[in-house]
Amino acid sequence: MSPRTGDSERSDSKRPTIYVEAMEVFQRAADLIGLDRRVRMELEEPDYEHIFYVTLKLHTRLTPLPAAEASKYADLSDSVLLPDGLEPLLDGSFVFKRRALIKANVQMREGVVRLKGKGLFKVLPGRPERFKAYRIQHNQARGPYKGGTRYHQDVSLDLFKVLAAEMTWKTSIADVPFGGAKGGIKVDPRSLSSEELEALTLRYMYRLKPLVGPNLDIPAPDVGTDANIMGLLLRQFTDGERERHALRGVITGKDTRIGGSEGRVKATGQGLAYCIQEWFAERGTTPAGSTFTLQGFGNVGSNAAEILTGLGGKLLAVNDAGGTIFSPGGIDVPDLINYVYENPANLRRTVAGYPKAQQISKSDLWDVEADICIPAALGGEINGPVAERLKVKLVAEGANGPTTPEGDRVLAKRGIELIPDIIGNAGGVTVSYYEWVQNKRMEHWSETEVNARLEQAIKSNYRIIRDISRNTPRRTATHNSMRYCIGQVVDMRTAAMVLALKRIEAHYQLEGFSQ
Ligand code: NAD
Repeated sequence: MSPRTGDSERSDSKRPTIYVEAMEVFQRAADLIGLDRRVRMELEEPDYEHIFYVTLKLHTRLTPLPAAEASKYADLSDSVLLPDGLEPLLDGSFVFKRRALIKANVQMREGVVRLKGKGLFKVLPGRPERFKAYRIQHNQARGPYKGGTRYHQDVSLDLFKVLAAEMTWKTSIADVPFGGAKGGIKVDPRSLSSEELEALTLRYMYRLKPLVGPNLDIPAPDVGTDANIMGLLLRQFTDGERERHALRGVITGKDTRIGGSEGRVKATGQGLAYCIQEWFAERGTTPAGSTFTLQGFGNVGSNAAEILTGLGGKLLAVNDAGGTIFSPGGIDVPDLINYVYENPANLRRTVAGYPKAQQISKSDLWDVEADICIPAALGGEINGPVAERLKVKLVAEGANGPTTPEGDRVLAKRGIELIPDIIGNAGGVTVSYYEWVQNKRMEHWSETEVNARLEQAIKSNYRIIRDISRNTPRRTATHNSMRYCIGQVVDMRTAAMVLALKRIEAHYQLEGFSQ
């Protein structure tokens, strides 16, 4: 297995990097359609790989004292600090803010304090820290670079290259006038206070500003970032600009109150649900009465689950970074969303500990029998051994790159069908495009209007991919696959790539190359 979060900068040079591995499907589809040699070179590597560093002054922290040192402070009495001035972090430490000292009664010895009911803590003075940041711009033949911003501890240049290239394919498949990019910061956002996260985000955009713009490169949310972070990026980009309202389209995935599109938060899950509906429609049926398992209960996973259960589907099991739950009778999705997102005690926003389901191990998730498995967390999860275990009819990819090439081969061998990520999760970037258009026109569309356009876009492109896969060129009222079929049957992932490459190649063929 090749972990999709590995760091190629330090990886064994004999092993194919995750980028080389992810490009296998590109190479295969390029061979199949006889892609022009020069176009192939334009697409094989990104246009630009920006790597830079962002520094941040971390606040003072109270970190739990190691148990071995506790006996030295057995007689230390409790300190009283204003709870509002202590922000709890996931690792058990607290960020200390000055207001904690209002009416405080502090008993400190050698920098150690005891907090009532919480134990002993060592004061770690604030210090500057350096974070590695990235923006990879893969291709802009079809329009401005476009792609998400990921804050995660396991990112790398190689991973961002994979994700940026995937955006080039995805924007082409969704047929929106954008290219592909991706970026972010190597940081665990849960290890920072809200003020630190804001400062880090503003500093990131300060360094990024010369590289992005509404007609140049348009970031959006991804793992570890959300509409709040997008608001901060927008502010830092537009602050002090004379015509700042004309620049609103530099960031998508914004809050609807500051120019975000209705339906954007749910768009990726909604797009995946449209693909799944289409998969059932081909079989003359609907998702009603079907069962599914899910990995990842973040933006994509929770929304896809809510929409599918709304269509009559039943969620049997969920795995996320914190744990795995299972309920053979079906999980109440709105109740689980409440447990994960509306519960201040659930700091890690995890499904773990959900009282109305059994707790199982992560590896047991893959053994649950269901109609559909939806990976909606990180990449590389469905490798060969996992694909051997799955007891489902369809893998519908919400995450980017969740199935390894070996996993693909096993799924194909076992006759398990696939909705590939580049169409499965294209709903997000499609509605990002609608957001960008609305910003340019200073308009605000209703959710009904957004979803009607999204449904048409996703379903028609899904049908073209299915026609390429089955080699059934057709012109119907809703789609036209005549130009794209290649005279032979191919798997769905290759078919999706064929569509992406044919649309990109047309730009090079019809516009030519600048000299
Ligand atoms: P998110 O940060 O909202 O949620 C991520 C989820 O994955 C969380 O539930 C987390 O607990 C879980 N997770 C993290 N590490 C895990 C691990 N090791 N094992 C199991 N679960 C783990 O992110 P999101 O926006 O929902 O994105 C999920 C995936 O979808 C990513 O691959 C992302 O690139 C892709 N995607 C997102 C969008 C979008 O619009 N948000 C669009 C296209 C693709």
